[in-house]
Amino acid sequence: MESVPELLFIAGEWREAEDSARFTVEDPADGSTLAEVADAGESDAADALEAAVAAQAAWAATAPRERGELLRSAFELMTERRDEFARVISLEMGKPLAEAAGEVTYGAEFFRWFSEEAVRIHGRWMSAPDGKSQLLTAKRPVGPCLFVTPWNFPLAMGTRKIGPAMAAGCTMVVKPAQQTPLTMLKLAELLSEVGLPAGVLNVVPTTSAGPVVSALMADPRLRKVSFTGSTGVGKVLVKQSADNLQRVSMELGGNAPFLVFEDADISAAVDGAMVAKMRNMGEACTSANRFLVHTDVADEFAAALGERMGALRVGRGQDDGVQVGPLIDAAAVDSVSKLVSDAVDDGARVVTGGERPDRKGHFYPPTVLLDVPPAAAINAVEVFGPVAPITTFTTEDEAIAAANDTEYGLASYAYTRDLARTLRLAERLEFGMLGINTGLVSNPAAPFGGVKASGFGREGGFEGIEEYLDTTYVALPAG
Ligand code: NAP
Repeated sequence: MESVPELLFIAGEWREAEDSARFTVEDPADGSTLAEVADAGESDAADALEAAVAAQAAWAATAPRERGELLRSAFELMTERRDEFARVISLEMGKPLAEAAGEVTYGAEFFRWFSEEAVRIHGRWMSAPDGKSQLLTAKRPVGPCLFVTPWNFPLAMGTRKIGPAMAAGCTMVVKPAQQTPLTMLKLAELLSEVGLPAGVLNVVPTTSAGPVVSALMADPRLRKVSFTGSTGVGKVLVKQSADNLQRVSMELGGNAPFLVFEDADISAAVDGAMVAKMRNMGEACTSANRFLVHTDVADEFAAALGERMGALRVGRGQDDGVQVGPLIDAAAVDSVSKLVSDAVDDGARVVTGGERPDRKGHFYPPTVLLDVPPAAAINAVEVFGPVAPITTFTTEDEAIAAANDTEYGLASYAYTRDLARTLRLAERLEFGMLGINTGLVSNPAAPFGGVKASGFGREGGFEGIEEYLDTTYVALPAG
């Protein structure tokens, strides 16, 4: 195991929890212990918020260029340490090393992007429509923030909040997922090394997410909560934010449709499906969850996808040549297995996979199912595993109606060579993001986020920094 601080990071210091409690971080490939991390309680979280509040005014007053240069240094050092970060991510989360290195590149890019945005925060000066007054607007940081992040991208889900918050001049408390706290602690170490002032970033791993987060949100000095995780927890946090009217950004669950039309380049669609489905072993909010394929091309698409998925090498993420690691825990494997067996009971045919392996660790094989009935449970919930359920359609209207038939609205994908259809899809699909002839929508320069039960707010792009800025308006008489 790489050396990673296993303590809380508060006010620039590494320290034990007040009651000296620790919790175990496990390797999902075999259940072995990776680390014993300090377990923050409510009083530790209160100290972290105190530190963030104390650092806020001075941090907001630093020159934008200075904040930008810190982010740039963090980008460079993280890039230099890509392999070290990748190993920690792979060990605690399970994904193959190459994918973990991809996450480091993606995560670091948020620091580069927001290092460039830090110096472009601006308001406007304009004449009122009647010419009798002038309007001046300025941007200010919203103030101390709380970030709650999930285990599936332990680095990137943090950097896409920390990057814009740093650029905007906000201080923060981060609560990483309890299954993957090590990556965030390693990131705190790096940010401290590049010179981030004490108190700007505080990290409190904990096994008491509910009480710790509630206590933080009960403090009116906390001004913003940004959450990435499940829709259920997101709803709890939105309700909790009401008491102090904290600003909230919610990056929640998804149920992405992957549409393949009869005019699609099938080989390109299979390439895209491999990326959209298998990135992160299917444990991604953007993961293609439902494959909606035109009846004329469904057999060809299913056979080709089955061949590619069936050939993937499953194993421990750190072993050479492994392309699919373990799922995060036993409950994840149980849930994926049940969705597959229920779909088969409902009439789906297994093209490849479908059998839970008899081995240690939380493994599930890449699986393709054909003829999945539209009403099957697997089409209604987030699978969060390496399973591609295929349902067929015959008309574009039918495909769009099926795609929109979900409470979620995060990512969607479509393969077609018809430009007019592409524009109709962009207009009619109720999702925050649409990939056309590509299986990857994530990009630090793009506004990532959803609609409906997938939440609100955007991360990345020009929009990302706005989540951390308030607008002040000054009325002036005409000149
Ligand atoms: P989760 O159970 O909602 O957990 C996410 C975070 O919330 C963890 O840090 C968790 O802490 C914390 N948490 C749990 N209960 C809480 C409570 N009552 N109050 C405050 N915090 C609480 O989600 P997950 O299973 O880790 O992540 C998978 C979900 O995230 C999927 O639905 C996926 O689609 C979504 N996701 C969305 C995006 C996006 O950008 N839209 C990106 C990635 C993932 P513990 O670790 O202690 O439970």
